[in-house]
Amino acid sequence: MEEIKVTLTETPKQKPAEDALGFGKYFTDHMFMMDYNEEKGWHDPRIIPYGPIALDPSASVFHYAQEVFEGLKAYRTADGTIQLFRPEENFKRLNSSNDRLCIPQVDVDFCIKALSKLIEVEKDWVPHAEGTSLYIRPFIFACEPVLGVHPSKEYKFIIILSPSGSYYASGLAPVKIYVEPEYVRAVRGGTGFTKTGGNYACSLKAQQEAKGYSQVLWLDGVERKYIEEVGAMNVFFVIGDEVVTPALLGSVLPGITRKSCIEILRSWGYTVNERRLSIDEVEEAAKNGQLKEMFGTGTAAVVSPVGELKYKDDVIEISGGEIGELTKRLYDELTGIQLSKREDRFGWITKVC
Ligand SMILES: *Cc1c(COP(=O)(O)O)cnc(C)c1O
Repeated sequence: MEEIKVTLTETPKQKPAEDALGFGKYFTDHMFMMDYNEEKGWHDPRIIPYGPIALDPSASVFHYAQEVFEGLKAYRTADGTIQLFRPEENFKRLNSSNDRLCIPQVDVDFCIKALSKLIEVEKDWVPHAEGTSLYIRPFIFACEPVLGVHPSKEYKFIIILSPSGSYYASGLAPVKIYVEPEYVRAVRGGTGFTKTGGNYACSLKAQQEAKGYSQVLWLDGVERKYIEEVGAMNVFFVIGDEVVTPALLGSVLPGITRKSCIEILRSWGYTVNERRLSIDEVEEAAKNGQLKEMFGTGTAAVVSPVGELKYKDDVIEISGGEIGELTKRLYDELTGIQLSKREDRFGWITKVC
């Protein structure tokens, strides 16, 4: 791949206050971009000022949603180092999404190099306050100007960066989740295992109707019986001595936080089973006192305690609405590794600068 050309902005923005960052509202001064066509493959990698891009109205992404994305974070540690958590896993998953959406593969090592270079340019944008981070959004979309339903011959790959506030503005706290009895997110054989825009577009309706609940828990798309995941998190249950998380059968997003939690839990000697788990089994376990904890895992929240599930007419209270012991221990361990407060015993950290 060619050299990454850098064009710096002449009008840097004023940085937002770190206590009012929120999520995904502010963007840094620059972005990474490269193009694809059949003749040249991926080419012209460049870092340029952040700003609008011009696209033909017939660009295929607008009509048939041929698009994929990723989400990860850069963290600033106590000694000022800026680092990434398992970035190779994100770009490998991007390629898995690419494959399903008929988008050409990207070079994982080159992507990490490009991202690192972009973050170096934007290093003053990585916030300092506890719990804050620089959210990273790589995405690829089809831009061939033609209306036929076929894989595009042209694509753009872009990475944008957004300084983000702490997910838990008022400290780690349990969330309430609505179990969706009717709408479904994905089916086996579909695109549930990919990060593609359409999966999220079709989830909005359920979220809108689940008023008063922070997230929707999806059941499987065929029987609406087996637990899958929530909006942007995988889920875990502590039932008796067993930790259970839904198996990856094609409709569930293979979360990197999920994978990391499984590895940590097993290293601590826990039995973690990836298997099918029905909502009835969860209700039953709650009734007979075996359901000890439930938590969600994802890049945004890392580990999120769940205090209540609402399913049809039932309300299932979990851990007495408190933060479960194992949930807290996992949260501390993962955030500890991400911020180099704890030993990186699995080799998950990539230092940027
Ligand atoms: C991104 C995402 C997750 C979490 O994945 P991580 O790699 O842990 O951030 C889980 N479910 C869905 C639907 C997602 O989009």
